[in-house]
Amino acid sequence: MTTPASDFLPFVRPEIDAAAIADVGKVLASGWITSGPKMHAFEAALSDLFGGRPVRTFANGSATMEIALRIADIGPGDEVITTPITWVATANVVIAVGARPVFVDIDPRTRNLDLDAVEAAITPRTRAIMPVYLSGLPVDMDRLYAMASKHGLRVIEDAAQAIDSRWQGRRIGAFGDLVSFSFQANKNITTIEGGCLVMNTPEEAVRAERLRLQGVIRTGMDGMDVEEPGGKFNLTDVNAAVGLAQLGSLDTITARRAELAEAYFRCAADHGLAGLGIELPQPLDAQAATTNWHMFQVVLPTGRLQGGPAQARQRVMEALRERGIGTGVHYPPIHLFSYYRSLGWREGMLPHAERIGRGIVTLPLFPAMQAADVERVCETLSETCKRLSK
Ligand SMILES: *Cc1c(COP(=O)(O)O)cnc(C)c1O
Repeated sequence: MTTPASDFLPFVRPEIDAAAIADVGKVLASGWITSGPKMHAFEAALSDLFGGRPVRTFANGSATMEIALRIADIGPGDEVITTPITWVATANVVIAVGARPVFVDIDPRTRNLDLDAVEAAITPRTRAIMPVYLSGLPVDMDRLYAMASKHGLRVIEDAAQAIDSRWQGRRIGAFGDLVSFSFQANKNITTIEGGCLVMNTPEEAVRAERLRLQGVIRTGMDGMDVEEPGGKFNLTDVNAAVGLAQLGSLDTITARRAELAEAYFRCAADHGLAGLGIELPQPLDAQAATTNWHMFQVVLPTGRLQGGPAQARQRVMEALRERGIGTGVHYPPIHLFSYYRSLGWREGMLPHAERIGRGIVTLPLFPAMQAADVERVCETLSETCKRLSK
């Protein structure tokens, strides 16, 4: 492996400002360091953001989704329809509650669930649809909810990447069924690790509170009962202090990411990336969906590059790394992982997901980047693809 230059540009870099660091210090010195006043304040601020809907926080986004599935009473014998192009947690949590993830193919333009394929996959055992908003781009929310209501299904939105994304001007999380966010270090706002669930009713929120702390119900000074066993998934006040500070910068973060995405589209045109067969994300104004630009992802023309579908991406990523540019892969298709193959999933079943899973690359995008960094990425990517073309 080559050693990165000192001016190495990673694909993501979290930014915790001095005020947040000071707030963390205050929590650590306060004598109350686990879940307490900061967690409650963070939940109240999130509830405000999501139009007053009930919100509870958890230790991470994966735990948040698992609890959402439990709140929807999804378990053995149930099917949950989802996408294979997502972080593997999306499918793993379905397995964790004893249900069966049913993968359907993606729309190659949006790289999100193809809603026609979702409808075709509904069976009498289907209990929920779990859409993922890859790189922050929502699916057609009107169609999604019309389909769910027609078939009597729950929707558990894996909105891990979609804080501050919108559908027809409405914030993701401010409407819908159960909506799960992650505050993992790479997300647009972070609590280091953490997540939150937006729910429909106070009753669901009470159940979420119990499930995140062993199912414990306390009464009076000394009463304790458990009706339904839970886990240990609470968010600490240290994490919540980071989250509160980050939430205060949300507008600035989203605006900066949109500027950088626009710079990417301009530079991609200047350097003829589309002409080289590189697929860009959906243009900014294409749909009613507004992304928060959680990632800027391109799909490489692996068939035209040296090494072919199996090797091309690795070669391009290595070449970029040698030139001081970090990239990521989000994501290889889940249905081809060994465990999921053991459930019967095979190559050829989801062709769009498989092709995009082989060619997708995440380019650097984080608020502290400069326009010159975007220029350098596009120029280097263009040169690299020309040099490595067959
Ligand atoms: C980050 C992420 C998760 C899981 O969140 P964690 O906080 O890492 O557990 C789930 N789904 C998607 C799409 C993600 O990006």
